[in-house]
Amino acid sequence: MVKRKEFVCPCKCPGQSCIVERRKVGDFVHVDMLMTEAKVPKLKHCLSKPTKTQQKVLDKIKDKNFQSITFRWTIDSELEKVDDKSK
Ligand SMILES: [Zn+2]
Repeated sequence: MVKRKEFVCPCKCPGQSCIVERRKVGDFVHVDMLMTEAKVPKLKHCLSKPTKTQQKVLDKIKDKNFQSITFRWTIDSELEKVDDKSK
């Protein structure tokens, strides 16, 4: 038997908002995308202490993009409703 140690995020936040969980299931991680864009290393997990450059990216999210994330989710759920109706 090989014991597989899976990395568990220390944040204990529900799956959908946890960056580690989202990566695991191959879900879109907005923070990762912005880090890549800024050519900054990605955060290891939700509670990683960000470096100065990472913090700059995080500040950007708070300023502008945080709303757009939740907005995207709203659109997603609206689309699901439309799908239900068409059935
Ligand atoms: Zn997490």
